[in-house]
Amino acid sequence: MRISELLKQEKATFSMEVFPPKTSEKFTETAENARKIAALRPDFMSVTYGAGGGTGAFTTEIAAGIQREFGVPTLAHLTCVSSGREHVREMLRLYRENGIENILALRGDIPAEGPVSTDYRYAAELIREIRELGDFCVGGACYPEGHIEAPSRKEDLKHLKEKVDAGLDFITTQMFFNNDVFYNFLYRAREAGIAVPVIAGIMPITSPRQLKRSAALSGTDVPQRFRAIVDFFGNSPEAMKQAGIVYAAEQIIDLLANGIRHIHIYTMNKPDVAEGILRICPRG
Ligand code: FAD
Repeated sequence: MRISELLKQEKATFSMEVFPPKTSEKFTETAENARKIAALRPDFMSVTYGAGGGTGAFTTEIAAGIQREFGVPTLAHLTCVSSGREHVREMLRLYRENGIENILALRGDIPAEGPVSTDYRYAAELIREIRELGDFCVGGACYPEGHIEAPSRKEDLKHLKEKVDAGLDFITTQMFFNNDVFYNFLYRAREAGIAVPVIAGIMPITSPRQLKRSAALSGTDVPQRFRAIVDFFGNSPEAMKQAGIVYAAEQIIDLLANGIRHIHIYTMNKPDVAEGILRICPRG
């Protein structure tokens, strides 16, 4: 099923995410965690794409497997900055052959050694190409606090509008820990003429290490209140996990209460965290 159709419904949607393993030794474990998350019946599941582009076969296998076994629609990610046009076309063929209708089209992070693709510079180019080549439902990424490389939030929003106009059906946000940041972004996006559905991305933080890494990579602001929680519970893994689940669940409840209908949970291959959130959060 197309995600654009799901997002037209009145009811709230919850989606969850898994990332593929880097090596085949870890594939069975990852696929099992993906199955456990799919068994919770999210409205759809997204499967990320390895930064270097070398694990696309795992993304395909996990995404196709979830659809086949659980009937849960999947959103396969695809990045372009580390790939040539031939590789991208091969991936699109693989997705289509495996019944994957939904793609999250991304540029990807620029590798430390510099971009390897001379074919793509920005996600908008990939989006146009997917639109020209096939009949996919296409989503993209957005950054309520501005993308880390962008000189300003205004500049980033201008490029987001160009990206949406290139052919996006919806956009999913980078994680945020303060809902006011999201509400402000939504207002600015609508004012800039971005009318597609915006899916709010929530990341449950279950360890201080995860927080440090995620915040450093994305530049996401960590509110003082959340820092205090991590300081207090950080040394006890089980307590930190529960505190992280509750913090994320509170964010989701506040979003739902304020009329936001589409929530993406960065479940990071953790079925227990996904289950913990669903236990607290009513779908409305
Ligand atoms: P773009 O939209 O191309 O933007 C990148 C930067 O370029 C921004 O600063 C933007 O303002 C700027 N820009 C855009 N167009 C122009 C222009 N014409 N001129 C000048 N500047 C411009 N990474 C992975 O490797 N695999 C994944 O599966 C993955 N999934 C993700 C899912 C979500 C929901 C999010 C939010 C991120 C994900 N990422 C993933 C990370 C993403 O690849 C990085 O954030 C990457 O640095 C930017 O990708 P993008 O598609 O947003 O890029």
